[in-house]
Amino acid sequence: MNDKTLIIEVLCSILPTEDLLVGDDISEKYHQDWSGEKGGEISAVVMPRNTETISKVLKTCNELGCPVVPQGGLTGLAGGATPVEGCVVISMERMKGIIEIDGVSGTMTVWAGTPLQVVQEVAEEAGFFFALDLGARGSCQIGGNIATNAGGNRVIRYGMTRDLVLGLEVVLADGTILPMLNKMVKNNAGPDLKQLFIGSEGTLGIITKAVVKLHPKVNGANTAFVALDNFTGVEQLLVYAQQQLSGQISAFEVMWQSFYKEAVTEEGIRAPLSSDYPVYVLMEQQSANPSMQSGQFEAVLEYALEKGWVIDAAIAQTHSDAESFWKLRDSIAELLQRYAPTINFDISFPISSIGHCAEILKEIMNTRFVGIRAMFFGHVGDGNIHVVVGPVPDDTVALEIEAAFYEVVRENNGSVSAEHGIGLHKKPWLSYSRSSAEIQALKLMKQALDPKNILNPGKVQD
Ligand code: FAD
Repeated sequence: MNDKTLIIEVLCSILPTEDLLVGDDISEKYHQDWSGEKGGEISAVVMPRNTETISKVLKTCNELGCPVVPQGGLTGLAGGATPVEGCVVISMERMKGIIEIDGVSGTMTVWAGTPLQVVQEVAEEAGFFFALDLGARGSCQIGGNIATNAGGNRVIRYGMTRDLVLGLEVVLADGTILPMLNKMVKNNAGPDLKQLFIGSEGTLGIITKAVVKLHPKVNGANTAFVALDNFTGVEQLLVYAQQQLSGQISAFEVMWQSFYKEAVTEEGIRAPLSSDYPVYVLMEQQSANPSMQSGQFEAVLEYALEKGWVIDAAIAQTHSDAESFWKLRDSIAELLQRYAPTINFDISFPISSIGHCAEILKEIMNTRFVGIRAMFFGHVGDGNIHVVVGPVPDDTVALEIEAAFYEVVRENNGSVSAEHGIGLHKKPWLSYSRSSAEIQALKLMKQALDPKNILNPGKVQD
């Protein structure tokens, strides 16, 4: 009996048939995430309905030495959920729903397979705001968001996913269930074990439940689209606006001219300003009562115009104006198709280095990769820039471009992954952002929690 037949036979003996897919019943969707990274053959897909089933499956797979790949909404952009040869996929799609809302503590306890958008909507119905937001909100799951420590548009104000998680329930490789469903902000009873699993991309344990932090409801925002002469103006505006608005900027999205021009000319999106400026910022201040703060918000922009940091500005007068500003920023999904095949860089630098590094990256493209386009934009308020490069003619050129870009990241103490994770895709470049001592410590941690290396093997630091 080969390994695949054995694992299927054992899983059939411990699971109801409706929780298991094998052979031709395993549909294409389980074979890759959004990154398109190709993986190996899947032995079986398990679709558990509770934590105990996951514990039982992991215990069995651990005893048999069978690899296990956790899958959430499969919107990951780093190949973290791509199956490895002969693996059992644990799909979290049925473990969804809200377990509890504690309105006094400001927490929501959820199953890990709950789509992000559901968490947002339920929070809003209960009079709260769940601050994590990203374009894949309808498909990605809160468990996947936690496993990747997702970022998104509001990090500048509310932090990464890590900052929104108070407690977790996790199953370890040997089936041990770790109940860490803490609801307190303050809990220093020893090291905070749950942090190990946030951002570990399914390599240290499977997240089954989470307690997330809710913020007071917001009822709208003051939103502006501004044009600037250079990146120094962007830095000056950011620092001043944060000081004057008491750190309440909820989005500070930067688009260089290449992005803006393409969005308004190719996608036909309404242009709030002329397309001649080198750089643009979409700035937003969410609030329970935006009209009370609009005076302060406008005063910041007036001052920035007077100082010459900003050269033109459009302030949203209506909800529909604000929506059209965001439509421009969110047009990236359509623009990506025009650049295909692409390399999508998700890198970060200290904010003070972004302007300088973006210029070096542009220069690399203009001198060494003539004819290949590069579009720069990002959540610059938190140090993150995205660069879409394409069309890339072949894998050799792709590798050359990656090597050149990540060298700039290394030299400027940046990160090869700001928010998407390492998965398979960024694994060759991990050492550009992590010292060998750190990688060794990560390996020791993996060895301690998963000595047989069954959980998502070959990913991140493996
Ligand atoms: P998957 O892709 O299924 O899995 C991701 C990783 O987490 C894998 O390693 C998997 O093994 C592991 N995993 C999944 N569930 C669990 C679990 N329950 N327990 C343990 N491990 C698990 N990302 C951002 O950070 N910011 C953005 O702004 C952003 N925008 C996006 C926009 C679009 C249009 C798309 C397609 C993607 C975007 N992403 C963004 C990337 C992606 O949505 C996030 O990485 C998201 O957090 C992945 O969640 P998922 O449920 O789809 O996880």
